[in-house]
Amino acid sequence: MHDDTKVIHSGRHPERFEGAVNPPVFHASTILARSLAEWEGKKADRARGVPGTYYGRMGTPTTQALEEAVRELEGGHATVLVPSGLAACAVALLSTVQAGDHVLITDNVYGPTRTFATRFLARFGVEATFFDPLIGAGIGALMRDDTRAVFLESPGSLSFEVQDVPALAAAARARGATVLMDNTWATPLYFKPLAHGVDLSIQAATKYVVGHSDALLGTITANERAAERLRAAHYELGQTVGPDDANLASRGLRTMAVRLPRHWATGVRLAEWIARQPEVERVLHPALPGDPGHALWKRDFAGASGLFGVVLKPVARAAYAALIDGLELFGIGASWGGYESLIMPMSPGDTRSATNWNYPGPCFRIHAGLEQPDDLLADLEGGFRRLRARL
Ligand SMILES: *Cc1c(COP(=O)(O)O)cnc(C)c1O
Repeated sequence: MHDDTKVIHSGRHPERFEGAVNPPVFHASTILARSLAEWEGKKADRARGVPGTYYGRMGTPTTQALEEAVRELEGGHATVLVPSGLAACAVALLSTVQAGDHVLITDNVYGPTRTFATRFLARFGVEATFFDPLIGAGIGALMRDDTRAVFLESPGSLSFEVQDVPALAAAARARGATVLMDNTWATPLYFKPLAHGVDLSIQAATKYVVGHSDALLGTITANERAAERLRAAHYELGQTVGPDDANLASRGLRTMAVRLPRHWATGVRLAEWIARQPEVERVLHPALPGDPGHALWKRDFAGASGLFGVVLKPVARAAYAALIDGLELFGIGASWGGYESLIMPMSPGDTRSATNWNYPGPCFRIHAGLEQPDDLLADLEGGFRRLRARL
């Protein structure tokens, strides 16, 4: 089955719900047993890992439908839901490490994931080393006997370097480490981490899965090797998501395969136009042929999302502000993956330690939404006109 058919059909079981196309939104903490025998049977099933409903925290048909759909799309053994994308990064890491371990994390990692490692994990005796996202198989030289996990993010969500995931994963696995990857940019539609040697695939479902900027959610999908530890950490940390948010994510997932091509096409169109403006130092978008990550992107990815970066040549703050402040269709805000376009000022250099950010000019990140691309271009043209008037 193709992925765009899978997102429509997977996880749905109308026969269990009076024929309803979508599973009902179960608001449930207590789930009653009818007898002592049923209660004991459920406990025994649970101990054997049989899916079912025992208590709201362990899942309901609403959350299980989404888990099943994501697991099929990722080609994984187990999927768990957590309340945010950051929780997905944290729980996935916690499922792999213990005191005294060492982890290797890509230097372009999402900032809060970096902080989770350097502040939280450090308190429990787990040491983090950050590595050049472009190191590839060279990561072998950084692996130590106590390196338990290697955390990837490709492309990085501020600086957009594409990593050689198969080479990194093979080198990490050769030394027995678990490979984790934050795959939020590409979604499992455009990149399949588990098929490229990753053990734990992380999605900030807040972005393209939810797709409408109205809920926070994370998913972690494990291959067979990592599944048991993931399930245990998820349970022991008491992770659970509300039924309404799970329902919004399931609803978003159903249209993801028609939304993404539009985000992709509009993003490339905007990026190409921006790259031609004389005030622009660089556009960071691996789907553009001149991008340093383009060859790897072509080799490994089936598409691009609508998120990319822009580095301006050094300009006065007033000129930069004039570009951003007058935009009408691009909201100034964090997050992305919704139907609407966004612009976010950013400083990728502030969140790295193993590599340098060599651009002195101001930067911003664009999320290309589902608006008519000509309208978005006209809005950006106005922005560059205002910028020029202040040079
Ligand atoms: C947004 C984001 C996250 C965190 O997701 P939240 O749901 O906001 O916690 C993690 N990783 C990447 C790459 C993101 O863009």
